[in-house]
Amino acid sequence: MKFSELNIPSNILGAIEKMGYEEMTPVQEAAYPIIAAGHDLCALAETGSGKTAACAIPLIQKVDPELNAIQGLVIVPTRELCIQYVTEIQHIARRTNVVPFAVYGGFDKDIDIAKLKHGVHILVATPGRLLDYLYSGVLSFEHVKCAILDEADELLKVGFLEDIEFILSCIIRKHQTLLFSATMPEDIKKLAHDCLRDPRHISLISERKAPASIDHYFAYHHPNDKMAELVKYLEAEDVKQMLIFCNARHMVDKLFTSFRKDFKDVGYIHAGLSQDKRTSVFRQFKSMKIRYLFASDVAGRGLDFSHVSHVVNWNLPQGRESYTHRTGRTGRMGRKGKALTFITKHELSDLRELIFRNEISPCWIGEDPLQANNTSPGRKTKKRKRPFRPHLGRGKEMAKS
Ligand code: ADP
Ligand code: MG
Repeated sequence: MKFSELNIPSNILGAIEKMGYEEMTPVQEAAYPIIAAGHDLCALAETGSGKTAACAIPLIQKVDPELNAIQGLVIVPTRELCIQYVTEIQHIARRTNVVPFAVYGGFDKDIDIAKLKHGVHILVATPGRLLDYLYSGVLSFEHVKCAILDEADELLKVGFLEDIEFILSCIIRKHQTLLFSATMPEDIKKLAHDCLRDPRHISLISERKAPASIDHYFAYHHPNDKMAELVKYLEAEDVKQMLIFCNARHMVDKLFTSFRKDFKDVGYIHAGLSQDKRTSVFRQFKSMKIRYLFASDVAGRGLDFSHVSHVVNWNLPQGRESYTHRTGRTGRMGRKGKALTFITKHELSDLRELIFRNEISPCWIGEDPLQANNTSPGRKTKKRKRPFRPHLGRGKEMAKS
């Protein structure tokens, strides 16, 4: 179905068409009438399927630009996602008088406060900064009629949950709540349901857990051989842009330092960087100025990098949802993408579980340890300086950023 077949005002429709959107994606088509009718909604659809616009288009139409107050509240888990989300709303709303604005940690508070006082209709925010402004009385939710949790299952996890519950409890008037994600673990489902009133459900992930356009490669190696194997892989592949995920910040730093000696256009991002640096790296990667980006899980969810042809998991991600989100940074909107995950011996049982639960058809580069009898990848160098003790390697990489 085309956007032009809906009853979308011409100023919004014109902006959407300018963005190159003509046909609606399945989640956009399914969500539009539900959101427009004012129902609560939990929408689950694969990574890169256009969930942002599925929410933003009807949301913008709900705003009364004459009323100088926050009417739509979008909560997202990371700062970069906040920037990306508000940018999409700005593009769609550019020919209207609707004012979107983003508040997130690390940005100048005086600028935020001046802008909020001047008038904002749709506020996109990370939970921390939002709480800060709610406690200090900078914000009023008196006129909020629609609240959105993007990456909802992440926001309802321990760590975020209490903050989200508090934030939502500050919306006093009757409002609509919308949840979006590509994953929804069983233990979070009930919490999600508790946020919603007589909700409608869209689940496009039951038949297909992840985009069919992503090929899932795995390679079984001794940890000390991974860098040489990555270089070999790069020589064989036509890489437009690559995102390399590690499970710990210090590993991101270490790999970046080593990799940049031989490769150009390399960057890194994790929560240990200043916000200015994070924003700059994020923008450089989006605009293709960085080709190889080493990242922690801060870049694992929601970010839309259209040119990423390859995702590498330096380690098996912790949790099957994390695998879906990380690999979902490629293969977006039907484009082809490749995911390569390095596996070491101690990760084999978690890998079996992942392949089964996520319904992955794995392609092995080299030995398939799930088939082979011998499941110990020896080092390829003849001299081994120290014995293979994978538990040590893993332990060092556990800390999450
Ligand atoms: P998701 O939130 O489902 O992961 P996004 O909202 O980030 O996906 O959208 C993925 C990409 O698809 C973005 O680059 C966006 O601009 C593009 N996109 C969204 N809707 C459409 C559409 N109807 N037609 C073409 N491209 C679209
Ligand atoms: Mg998204």
